Amino acid sequence: MLVKNYINGTFVDGESSFVNINPVTGEVINRVVEADRAAVDSAVDAASKALGGPWGSMVSSKRAEYLHGIADGIEQRFDDFVDAEITDTGKPLSQARSIDIPRGVTNFRFFADLLGSVAMESYETHSRDGRHALNYAIRRPLGVVGVILPWNLPFLLMTWKLAPALAAGNTIVAKPSEETPSTAALLAEVMDQQAIPKGVVNLVNGFGQNSAGEFLAGHPDIDAITFTGESSTGAAIMKASAPSLKGLSFELGGKNSAIIFEDADFEKAVAGTAKSTFTNCGQVCLCTERVYVQRSIFDKFVSALKEKAESIKIGLPCDKSTQMGPLVSHGHRDKVLSYFDLARQEGATVVTGGKVPDFDDEKSDGAFVEPTIWIGLPETARCVKEEVFGPVCHIAPFDSEEEAVAMANNSRYGLAAAIWTENLTRAHRVAGQMEVGMAWVNTWYLRDLRTPFGGLKMSGIGREGGLHSLDFYSQPTNVCIELSA
Ligand code: NAD
Repeated sequence: MLVKNYINGTFVDGESSFVNINPVTGEVINRVVEADRAAVDSAVDAASKALGGPWGSMVSSKRAEYLHGIADGIEQRFDDFVDAEITDTGKPLSQARSIDIPRGVTNFRFFADLLGSVAMESYETHSRDGRHALNYAIRRPLGVVGVILPWNLPFLLMTWKLAPALAAGNTIVAKPSEETPSTAALLAEVMDQQAIPKGVVNLVNGFGQNSAGEFLAGHPDIDAITFTGESSTGAAIMKASAPSLKGLSFELGGKNSAIIFEDADFEKAVAGTAKSTFTNCGQVCLCTERVYVQRSIFDKFVSALKEKAESIKIGLPCDKSTQMGPLVSHGHRDKVLSYFDLARQEGATVVTGGKVPDFDDEKSDGAFVEPTIWIGLPETARCVKEEVFGPVCHIAPFDSEEEAVAMANNSRYGLAAAIWTENLTRAHRVAGQMEVGMAWVNTWYLRDLRTPFGGLKMSGIGREGGLHSLDFYSQPTNVCIELSA
């Protein structure tokens, strides 16, 4: 099958293409047309023209109907989306069915309804010179939004950005990751079937540097870029977008911590940390890679987490009982395995894992690695500092609350943290001290779409979620009407 670009309501072929590889079998899933500069230009042109058309000025309730229509269209092809997502990423069927695809549907429904329920500010003004006026703000679309996405949660993140951008009346040129183009291609089909006006959503495929990603970031007619991916890529996009002063929303990398206090519910903390470390093979930006455990329970915790890690069922994505599939690609596995080697060189004790699992069946061609736990590294080790983005954590002991907070905050990243304690005041106190965008207490990855999502430090710029998304994807214009006679 050939995945084409979707530009101005048409599926468009091109001169060059690349292959999308299945991380389990190493086989070609589909060929993907690479958008060259001319294709990106025509997508941006189509989006600019559509902005000036009925979409930007349409009443928000009408746009909401379109968004619900997209959600309906995804639900009608639910199994196709699940198949495409697990084939591209290798993630387990159970996860795609219960998280990725349903959350994509929810994103469209949630943002469809949000705009109709939020007020804008208004003030009655009495100025010093005796004039009387009414001030109120209205929301205008931001413009043409460029959307650049990673491979770890392809459909969830695509919809997380498309839905609010569309709800606010923008038009879009989106680029999925070169590793995971299939659910975006299905989404284009759904948009087409739902008769979303031509040019409102355009999808271009390609790579980053010298390809569609860079062409979008530097395009003078794109008003804003919303990007999720590595921090270093964010820096490159910021540089490329600087000449046209684009609005930027960045959701970037992390090296997230978990703090387990001796007063935690032990079983809950172990299960929660196993989940936060190994979900999606460690390839969620929110996954825990640094675990700090109070010294009195350190040994017990390490052996309990080891037991959990060793009980994870690694398997084929399509097997209903699989809990962990392969990494997204053999290339990413090489990166993760290089950290497994580096950890040994840096002096880690490998508690469990640390290598490719031994299979003597069809899984042996897949990009699998074992769930891995390290102890014994200094806090200065690269494996404690750098994001691995695989199923691995380092566990270190601490003695006091102050020390735990200082260790957790000693990172150039600041995305998420999980705190495990049954002490109510400590929970509030420590959560407030974490230098992160999201601090969970006695849970992880529990999301409410109304809440702010984003990171501090190298983990991001800006916030999305609920009103924060609307604030990024729209611009307020203040209207001032003099009322004095
Ligand atoms: P990546 O930065 O390598 O690629 C992301 C996207 O950027 C891809 O579409 C790629 O083609 C494009 N790109 C690469 N170079 C570019 C350039 N110079 N100009 C324009 N576009 C360019 O990230 P990845 O490896 O796909 O994803 C993993 C990373 O994403 C991890 O660091 C992870 O933490 C991060 N992530 C963050 C969040 C969050 O919400 N904070 C969520 C998911 C993933």
